[in-house]
Amino acid sequence: MTSSLAPSTFDTHEIGNQAHPLRVLLVEPQRSHKYHTAYPPLGLLKLAAHHQQRGDSIKLVSGTSADGFDPNVIYITSLFTYAWEPVHEVVRFYGNEYKKARVIVGGIYASLCQDHLRESFGDRIEICEGVIPELDDLLPAYWLIPQWKSSILFSSRGCIRQCLFCSVPQLEPKFEARESIKHLIYPGHKKVILWDNNILASPYWENIFAEVEQTGLEVDFNQGLDARLLTEEVALSLKRLKIPIIRLAYDSMGIKEPLKQAIDLLNSLGIRGRKIVVYCLYNYLDTPEDFLERLRALLNWGVVSYPMRYQALEPGPKDGYISPNWTKEQLEMVAKARRVIGYGGAFPPYEGLKRKILGARTFEEAFQLRTRHILSSLK
Ligand code: SF4
Repeated sequence: MTSSLAPSTFDTHEIGNQAHPLRVLLVEPQRSHKYHTAYPPLGLLKLAAHHQQRGDSIKLVSGTSADGFDPNVIYITSLFTYAWEPVHEVVRFYGNEYKKARVIVGGIYASLCQDHLRESFGDRIEICEGVIPELDDLLPAYWLIPQWKSSILFSSRGCIRQCLFCSVPQLEPKFEARESIKHLIYPGHKKVILWDNNILASPYWENIFAEVEQTGLEVDFNQGLDARLLTEEVALSLKRLKIPIIRLAYDSMGIKEPLKQAIDLLNSLGIRGRKIVVYCLYNYLDTPEDFLERLRALLNWGVVSYPMRYQALEPGPKDGYISPNWTKEQLEMVAKARRVIGYGGAFPPYEGLKRKILGARTFEEAFQLRTRHILSSLK
């Protein structure tokens, strides 16, 4: 998809060079089931910090609202490619409301689907592709969202791997790591959330872990840890952190061995399986049987599996993509089982759940639900 993209029209150097104070409007599309996130818009908060340093006036809003602020520049963020409609809604609204203002759209959808955005808005918008390197080392303007108590940060960008289903190689093609993250932790926050795609690939991971440990704060390696890089040294460092959940991934059969070794290592240090959540990609190149086999392995290993349905990188409805190896009915069976016999969408290694999935002869048998009553008693 990147090969057909028009080049970004947003010059990142320009944002620091404007002479007069600006009125800057920062827009997050309206949150709803169509635009769902549990996190604040980090990119907008970094832009806010940057513009405040310049002496500009800033305003952060969600959805559409016009109250006479009259901005010169409007930044609009975006999330996953399937959540494009709420983005178009705010681009349309603000583009019409403030005809003289620059409208700059960034974020995942804007970066990956530039042609799609251009088809609707032409030259009315500028597109900011990927990360703005000049802003990445700034402490986000958390003072704009005082109710939020976690510092979200990246100690590295990009990834050393090139998984075909993943947008990271397109969004952040170069792997780059920073040595320290202390300056990105906001005073008074209770938790540190690292959004690194692959922190263990960083030559500085040990220093980053040590810095987090020194804060005494809870930590979440939110995007998961690469089991292939989870050595004894890493496991010992993890053990010293205040980390309620360790996230790993089992996206294909190819990583079975390193994953099993990583889980054994964590278990040997006293980290229980219920604290280990393993993301399990499906609806991609796998088959339902392959998915079931991975799920069975995870249940046998006593860890929590979290099925992750593959979503196409092109704009389209959520769950619109169906792999040639899957049927709509099979995908619905997994979705329903996650709701009914799972816990928060995950499959913990409950005894009843293990009996059902491990004892099934086929995929259909594993995911067939008879009555809610019978199945809820499995827990
Ligand atoms: S290891 Fe993770 S972040 Fe890296 S390319 Fe694969 S899925 Fe993406």
